[in-house]
Amino acid sequence: MVSHAATAPEAPGDGVTSSVGIPWRTRLDLAFAALGERMARSRRLIVGVQWAVVGIYAVLIVVPTLVPLPGRLDHVWNHVTVFAQFVFWGIWWPGVLISMILFGRLWCGVLCPEGALSERASRFSLGRAVPRWITWKGWPFVGFLGTTIYGQMISVYQYPAAVLVILGGSTCAAIVVGLVYGRDKRVWCRYLCPVNGVFALVSKLAPIHFRVDRAAWDRWEKPADGRLPHVDCAPLVPLRRLEGNSPCHMCGRCSGFRDAVALSSRSPNHEIVEVAGREPKPWESALIILGLLGVAAGAFRWTGSALWVDIKQALAEHLIDLGAERLLDLSLPWWILTNYPEKNDVMTVVDGAALIVFLGLETAIAAILFAGGTALAAALAAPWRREVFHHLVQTLIPIAAVGVILGLSMTTVSLARADGFDVALADPLRLTALTGAAIWSAVLARAVVRRHAVDPTRRRLAGAAMIGVIGLAAADWATLFWTP
Ligand code: SF4
Repeated sequence: MVSHAATAPEAPGDGVTSSVGIPWRTRLDLAFAALGERMARSRRLIVGVQWAVVGIYAVLIVVPTLVPLPGRLDHVWNHVTVFAQFVFWGIWWPGVLISMILFGRLWCGVLCPEGALSERASRFSLGRAVPRWITWKGWPFVGFLGTTIYGQMISVYQYPAAVLVILGGSTCAAIVVGLVYGRDKRVWCRYLCPVNGVFALVSKLAPIHFRVDRAAWDRWEKPADGRLPHVDCAPLVPLRRLEGNSPCHMCGRCSGFRDAVALSSRSPNHEIVEVAGREPKPWESALIILGLLGVAAGAFRWTGSALWVDIKQALAEHLIDLGAERLLDLSLPWWILTNYPEKNDVMTVVDGAALIVFLGLETAIAAILFAGGTALAAALAAPWRREVFHHLVQTLIPIAAVGVILGLSMTTVSLARADGFDVALADPLRLTALTGAAIWSAVLARAVVRRHAVDPTRRRLAGAAMIGVIGLAAADWATLFWTP
C-alpha cells in the first residue's frame, strides 16, 4: 500500500511548524492519507452503507406513491409523503450539494444509491464498449436542463408520483446502462447522470482531493513477482492524469496506488485558479451561466412571478384572437403537466407554455448579463482569447452553487414553517451564505484575472467587470428571498 512519505507534502516549511516539529500541513495530509487508505481497506463497509442508502431511497420514493396525498393538516411527523418531501428536497438535495463543497464527490462514491445500483448492475453487464454518443460532452448540460424543466412541469417538489417518475426513471436508466456497458463500472455516472455536470463543478471547491504524485508514479517499480496492481476506478478516471475533483468520486479505491495516490488537503481555490484554465470547457460555462444562473434560478422563481402571469395572459389572449379558446383549459396527463384536480392543482397547456417561455427569458437574461459581463472582463484582461472567458466563468461557481443551495432551502424553510418550527434564523443565514459566496467568487476572479492580465490597468478594469457580474448574480439570487 501507500508510503506516506511518498505522498505527503515533501517541502519543509509548507505549513506552520507545530510543537513537535512537523508542519501542521504535513500532519494534516498524513491524517488524510491514512483516512484514504482506511477507505481503500473498507470496501465491504462502504458497500454495506450503499445498500442501506439504496433501501432508504427506495422507501422514500415508492411508499409515498402508495398512500393518499396529504391534506392541509398533515405534517412531517404524521404523513409519509410530507416526511419524504422534507427529507428529499429539504435535507437530502441541499445536503448533497453542501457535501460537494466540503468533501468533493464523496456522496457519489460512497453514498449515492443510483451510482451503487449502476455499478452493481455492471457486474452482470453485457460488457459492451461505451459508444461515442454516450461520451458526448453536452449530456451533463442537457440532462440538467431537461430534468429541471420537466421537474417543474410535473411539480416534482409536491407530488410523489412525479418524484417516482423523475428519480425512479433516472435510477432505472442507470441500471440499464450498467447492464449494457462496461464491467464493474459507472458509465452512467461518468457520462449521463443529469447531476453529474453540477457535481463536477461544485466539487472543484472542496478542500480535499485524491492527489496524484506523478514523479512518485513514474519512479514506482514493479513488484519482484511481476504482478501489476490494478485499481478498479468505477467512474473511469484516467488516474495518472487526475488533477482535480471533477471526475473523481472519492471512493478511495486508488488510495496508495503505486505509492503515488493519496487523499490530501488543498486550497479550496486551487482547482479553479490553477487547473480549470488549462483547457476551455464551453459546456461547463453553459452549465454555470445558462443552467445554474439561468434555468435553475428561474425554476425557483416562476410560481410567484408576475412576469409568468403576464406571459400566461398574453398567450391566452393570443389563443382567443386565433379563435382557439378551447385550448385555454386543455390539460394533459400528470406525467406531462401537473394534473391533480382533487388538490385544485392543474397546470393547463397555456400554464406550461408560459413556464417554458418564462424559463427561456430568464436564461436569455442570464446569458446577456453574466456571459456578456464575463466576456467584457475577459476582453479587458487581455487581447481576446476564449480560454480567458471560460476560465473567468469558472469563478462564478461559488455564487451559482450557493444560490442553488439557497433556492433548495426555500422548500426546507416553507415545510419547516408549515410544521410550526421557528425559522427566524433562515434570513440571516441566507444573507451570510450569499455574501460569503459572492466574496469567494470575487477572490477567485481576482486570482484568475491576475493570471491573464499583466497590465495593472487591465487588471483593475477586468476585476471591476467581474465584481459587477458577481454582484448582479448575488442580487438576482437575493430577489428570491427579498423583494425590492
Ligand atoms: S480516482 Fe477513481 S478510484 Fe480513485 S478515488 Fe477517484 S473514483 Fe475512486
